[in-house]
Amino acid sequence: MTEFDVQGVTVSELARRFGTPLYVYDSDELIGRLTTLLDVMHPRLEVFFSLKANPNIAVCALLHSRGARAEVSSMVELTTALRAGVAGEDIIFLGPGKSRAELVACLERGVHTIVCESFGELATINELAGERGMIAPVALRVNPSFQVKGSGLTMGGRARQFGIDEAQLLATPDLAERHPSVRLMGVHAYMGTRILNADAVANNTERILDLAERISATLGFPLDLVDIGGGLGIAYFDGEDDLDLAALATRMNPVVGDFATRHPGTRLVMELGRYLTAMAGTYVIRVEYTKTSLGERFAVADGGTNHHMAAVGIGSFVKRNFPMLLLNRIDEPASESWHVTGPLCTPNDTLGKKVELPPVRPGDLIGVLRSGAYGPSASPVFFLSHGHPAEVLVHCGQPYLVRERDRPEDLLRQQRLPDLTAVAMPRAN
Ligand SMILES: *Cc1c(COP(=O)(O)O)cnc(C)c1O
Repeated sequence: MTEFDVQGVTVSELARRFGTPLYVYDSDELIGRLTTLLDVMHPRLEVFFSLKANPNIAVCALLHSRGARAEVSSMVELTTALRAGVAGEDIIFLGPGKSRAELVACLERGVHTIVCESFGELATINELAGERGMIAPVALRVNPSFQVKGSGLTMGGRARQFGIDEAQLLATPDLAERHPSVRLMGVHAYMGTRILNADAVANNTERILDLAERISATLGFPLDLVDIGGGLGIAYFDGEDDLDLAALATRMNPVVGDFATRHPGTRLVMELGRYLTAMAGTYVIRVEYTKTSLGERFAVADGGTNHHMAAVGIGSFVKRNFPMLLLNRIDEPASESWHVTGPLCTPNDTLGKKVELPPVRPGDLIGVLRSGAYGPSASPVFFLSHGHPAEVLVHCGQPYLVRERDRPEDLLRQQRLPDLTAVAMPRAN
């Protein structure tokens, strides 16, 4: 009987020590993804980790220790990156609805750039920096007029709340003069997520670099930074193939190299979330009950879409399953078809439909693979008040608890019970 393990730590050991449901991250995989990418890509291309994909501080610190910088989009993500040891100059802050408090924190903590998403935001940044006698470094996020195929989510060429339309930017050559407390220094564009096609990434990059040159020339600011987005994907479903990294390097490096030679002082940034963390994570759930309904088998587990909403399916009508395994008997042939469901009182709480698994028994552990990105933080963890699952990072063969599971007191602490008897209640008669 062979068991799934992470760096030699068996899944039953992990479940025994930390309980289920549980997210397990493999540090070798996290490090391997990043270092392989850095090795093959042009040396001038910097990788910024998008904390949105996995906001765990240990994950951020580990990636940072191997050369990743940080891209953050909220006060807590900014604080996480700083506490993980990322220096302000290696942090960029983006997001369409930044609060004044977040913008002030960017100025005070000295982030490398604020990626500005609207003219209104630019005015606010100018005002806040002016009040403090500071000059704010700002990169303009552009909503490009072009669209590139191959992404799971199309950006560019559409009405969006993100960035400023390319045409609007090109029509405001005096933008810098009108914002004396802002230093325009860069251009950012993000073309979408889950891109599995190397050509699509390279084409995006080519066009974004060209766009950055046009915008900086028209608006008259030097390009200290160009952020080409990223959006590199992971194959989750049948029929998908993982991105061909060698092909990506072959296509991208000449493009990046040409630009880098023309702009020796420009920082070139790729921001990545999913690509860095997805492969490293496994969502581990314990089967509580098995049953049949109208002839179909159900494995009802202690965790479900409340921790892994992405497994419900991404933007498609037909439910497609993430790769799943019976973790405590991985050598047993998959001979049966099972619906894998969670504890929520909704039929949507289905992690997998008709998953091919060996015969499942109560107590078994099922794993959803490739789940290190957009897991609990992108899921309704408070639904039915189950709370956040535990997270464990296995590093050098040792499991470290990097996020405690929410306990009932944790969930109830934020609620208030007023003394409802202190006020006279209106009576019906
Ligand atoms: C979500 C997001 C990312 C990270 O996307 P991945 O597909 O996880 O790499 C990067 N940049 C922006 C602007 C985003 O919105």
